[in-house]
Amino acid sequence: MRYIISFLLASVAMPAAAELPRVVTDIPPVQALVAQVMGDLGTPVLLLEKGADEHDFALRPSQMRDISKADLVVWIGPELTPWLERALEGSPAPALALLDAEGTQTRAFAEGEAEEEGEDHDHGHDHGNIDPHAWMDPANAEVWLDLIAARLGELDPAEAATYAANAAAAKARVQAMDAKIASQMKPLADQRFVTFHAAYGYFAAHYGLTGAASLALGDAAAPGAARLSALSAEMKAGAYACAFPEIQHDPAVLTQIMADSPTRLGGTLDPVGSSLDFGAGAYEDLMRRIATTLQACLQP
Ligand SMILES: [Zn+2]
Repeated sequence: MRYIISFLLASVAMPAAAELPRVVTDIPPVQALVAQVMGDLGTPVLLLEKGADEHDFALRPSQMRDISKADLVVWIGPELTPWLERALEGSPAPALALLDAEGTQTRAFAEGEAEEEGEDHDHGHDHGNIDPHAWMDPANAEVWLDLIAARLGELDPAEAATYAANAAAAKARVQAMDAKIASQMKPLADQRFVTFHAAYGYFAAHYGLTGAASLALGDAAAPGAARLSALSAEMKAGAYACAFPEIQHDPAVLTQIMADSPTRLGGTLDPVGSSLDFGAGAYEDLMRRIATTLQACLQP
């Protein structure tokens, strides 16, 4: 009798174990978080390609098929990737939008970067929108690891404990990374700097960097002439220690407005990790590289 029951259990369990969830993700840091939760059980598909801009990307037909066959799409949300919102509208795949999820700490697109410092910028862009670059707050990464583990556990109950354990281990790694970056950033708290686009608000807020400004806006759209000349005047007046280009964008505009100013040209930032080796390590790699690049130029 016991033999028969265990035989029945085994034959019931086997097909479930073979059906691992097919997961599709939007950007490298999200793929990295899902990959850590899945561990040895599987590898999530990543849509954003090498060198691509997260705000402006065109899906290939094979990627549309990946989306339509997915058991789960994990993405930041339409605020970051409108190109994926359009694809999801026509797809039956269930989606987990992290920006909207319970527990995610969001911030408004920074009026802060211009207004709080009393600068005279063009405010045409400012709609109090949610800043979607929320992965740059490690506290959000920790919340998301648990959310991802819970959703995967619902899809694949046989492995729920594995997903939960993998998430717990990943959270410990994020915490260690966070402590290291916090100590790196501490001496830089008052340094003023310009980044190419407004992608670093969460990073700056989390690590107490009070002097971050940006050339382009939060969706990386090209800045207007008024903003360029205002920033150029500030740079000439010595307002910023460093300016950082981005890997997805031509640095020419930045170097042009920096001309004849004491502002130093920093290393190239990659806020979405599209130049990194994709996979489980990409989230921490992305965060560490931002910290190291800021530190290399800003260290007094
Ligand atoms: Zn961005």
